[in-house]
Amino acid sequence: MTSPTLDAATDLNATATAQHLINGTWCGQAATRRMNPAQPDQMVASSPSGTAEDVAAAIAAAVEAQPAWAALPAPARGAVLLAAGDLLMDRQSAIAEDLVREEGKTLAEAKGEVKRASDVLRFFGSLGWAATGEVLPSGLPDTTITTRREPLGVVGLITPWNFPIALPAWKMAPALISGNTVVIKPAELTPLSATHLARALQDAGLPAGVLNVVHGKGRVVGAALAHDPRIAGLSFTGSTAVGLGLQEVLNARRARVQLEMGGKNGVLVLDDADAVRAAKVVAAGAFGLTGQACTATSRVYVTPGIRAAFLEALVAEAASYVPGNGLDANSAMGAVVSRQQLEQNQAAVRGAVERGATLLHGTYDGDPSGPLLFAAAVLTGLQADDPAVTEEIFGPVVAVLEVANYEEGLAAINDSRYGLTAGICTDSLARATDFAARAQAGVVKVNRPTAGLDLNVPFGGVKDSSTNTFREQGRSALDFFTWGKTVYTGV
Ligand code: NAD
Repeated sequence: MTSPTLDAATDLNATATAQHLINGTWCGQAATRRMNPAQPDQMVASSPSGTAEDVAAAIAAAVEAQPAWAALPAPARGAVLLAAGDLLMDRQSAIAEDLVREEGKTLAEAKGEVKRASDVLRFFGSLGWAATGEVLPSGLPDTTITTRREPLGVVGLITPWNFPIALPAWKMAPALISGNTVVIKPAELTPLSATHLARALQDAGLPAGVLNVVHGKGRVVGAALAHDPRIAGLSFTGSTAVGLGLQEVLNARRARVQLEMGGKNGVLVLDDADAVRAAKVVAAGAFGLTGQACTATSRVYVTPGIRAAFLEALVAEAASYVPGNGLDANSAMGAVVSRQQLEQNQAAVRGAVERGATLLHGTYDGDPSGPLLFAAAVLTGLQADDPAVTEEIFGPVVAVLEVANYEEGLAAINDSRYGLTAGICTDSLARATDFAARAQAGVVKVNRPTAGLDLNVPFGGVKDSSTNTFREQGRSALDFFTWGKTVYTGV
């Protein structure tokens, strides 16, 4: 078995090679070049561009490996995840540097993400020892009823670039501990991070064929996964447009599908909040991770009494998020992932200004051919239906609108096609409690940034943010990857 070259983290001029992992063998010719978004002339990685035949081979390997993997005692499956989690931490610095160079975020964020991937593997690994199923009473004499969770079989995973190691981990780990085998298509922009994860699992002893990785284009590799009848369930995270298209394909063949998609997450700041504290909460949610989080704050509604103080504090916060190369310790905010995304950020801000908005902080005319840096942007003076208020930008851009009171603010928060996370900044327990009950979002944060979740809690959204059937993360993640069986045993 050959192993991919992954020494680039120790040599900034070297290029790492990501390869497919099919039936335990690393394979595929380098076809796609990934450049460093903070240093566009530096090549970071090459990866193969997978074909439908590659996907078919990966699925065949997963089909072959699945019965033996499912037959292993769950603690033995868990032991592999636990060991892989340890390996990720042993390799944390090297992996985090590769992650920064292919995705752009800061080194601190990347290290945190590698640790998250490790923690996720360890969390689900430890569930190998946990009870699943129930014992239920029967109306019949001498009869015991138990419930079991059975693996789906072979599952497909499609992931985006913004959490390139943690997100594949939080889909893979519950799939694997449940006895499924996996074919994953990582995002094209971030092939190295997924490779590091796969290699840790392989080095930890995962049998050949249990996890297969196929790199390449979404409309080729992703589509082949979605259409293959051997894929019993597909878990996708990415844009709403792509997700809804995949849902139609999976629904047509009545396969299970889980979609986690876009967001336009709002925060309501009430007069009784502390303006400086609220600005820190909003800034962390809006500008952390370069705003490239599905849970990022992108619209804020403020009541009149706190508006001026809040805006002043938010602009000061925005100024502190100085963008730069994520490997430079002075950079408070990393690079934008791609030139296309940078141009999207610039166009969103420019368009809002042209429609009459005021740009209190930031700019929209940076050179997209240099390092892909974009200053935190704060917009005011927008109409409620302005695209900068209604459409996902996926950058460090926040629109601040005034509302007359709590009820108007709550209605504005809920007036969105999305419903991933929602926040409120208030000192009123009554308002916070009411907001938690009435906000149309899968996650509600009171006096905390909309972005960022613990790994043990259910995560997902409503409306166009999610299929809103199965939740990811925590124990609830097991539901998607298993089906329920009821067993009667008479004596
Ligand atoms: P994207 O939809 O362009 O791509 C996501 C994945 O789908 C990639 O691997 C891509 O190659 C693949 N893909 C693209 N077209 C496909 C097709 N026709 N068939 C099958 N697969 C296809 O999204 P992105 O730009 O990588 O990521 C950003 C988006 O992801 C944002 O909208 C963001 O909100 C969302 N996101 C959501 C969550 C969440 O949990 N809700 C988390 C992170 C990111």
